[in-house]
Amino acid sequence: MDCIFCKIGEGSIPSKKVFENERILAFHDINPAAPVHVLIIPKKHIASLNDAEDGDWGTFGEIAGVAQKLARELGVADSGYRLVNNCGKDGGQEVFHIHFHLLGGAKLGPLFSRGS
Ligand code: 5GP
Ligand code: ZN
Repeated sequence: MDCIFCKIGEGSIPSKKVFENERILAFHDINPAAPVHVLIIPKKHIASLNDAEDGDWGTFGEIAGVAQKLARELGVADSGYRLVNNCGKDGGQEVFHIHFHLLGGAKLGPLFSRGS
């Protein structure tokens, strides 16, 4: 499968890893949008949240735990951070291997604007 995040998960494309176990990998985003910008992925190829199956929910809970641990380690737990999943075209998803952005280290802008 021609998936860039599967290749990062296998190690055939290099990344700056910050966490790894049998199921999950976290690494620095190549084009950071904030001082701390880490991507947390399941090693299993799941294209998007739309494609997750019943057996996958435990992995997403584990990803939330990894995000909590990394926020502490990267020094943003107290100042605050965002954990974001973009799903599909309108959600702004560009890489179709599900991933969660951990963003922090600066005051983040509003996620969306509302008309007045
Ligand atoms: P999306 O828009 O799909 O939610 O986010 C994809 C993210 O993957 C972007 O923030 C982009 O900078 C990051 N990205 C794309 N290709 C690579 C890569 O080869 N290595 C790393 N570390 N990040 C990547
Ligand atoms: Zn993949």
